[in-house]
Amino acid sequence: MKRPGRMLAEVLRSALRKPATVLYPFVKILMPEHFRGRLHFIPEKCIGCKLCMRDCPANAIQIIKVADKQFRCEVDLARCIYCAQCVDSCPRKALEASREFELAQLQRKDLFMRESPDPSKVSAPASEQPKTESAKSEPAPANKPANG
Ligand code: SF4
Ligand code: SF4
Repeated sequence: MKRPGRMLAEVLRSALRKPATVLYPFVKILMPEHFRGRLHFIPEKCIGCKLCMRDCPANAIQIIKVADKQFRCEVDLARCIYCAQCVDSCPRKALEASREFELAQLQRKDLFMRESPDPSKVSAPASEQPKTESAKSEPAPANKPANG
């Protein structure tokens, strides 16, 4: 049986020690550097190889072509297990695991990430691009006959 004096010392030590927990959500701590939180997609780097989709163990990520060499990323955040396998598989570093962990939503449908390229940088596929005035009206240049 422990002596009461030893127990009292332990109680006093615990009372004076810095708490191991924080008063979340009033106090927030920064997650460690290699924390695997919400994914971020960098559209400019994506080449559409879909290795991230192939390697995702939860079938949570989709890469969708939106224009010529332009891709959108969609992640079902309720399916994602935050393993960051897609980050490791991406040959172009187009996916990053952030330190964001506050992902709770009231609706299941809101647990969804959709990151698209900047619309101002999205070019329509060549077949859908309008013809320019010069392309419409100017006839093709004729070959000049050789002089002499
Ligand atoms: S692995 Fe990377 S480059 Fe390939 S489709 Fe996925 S995000 Fe894009
Ligand atoms: S973090 Fe893991 S589960 Fe989530 S999308 Fe990437 S590979 Fe899939």
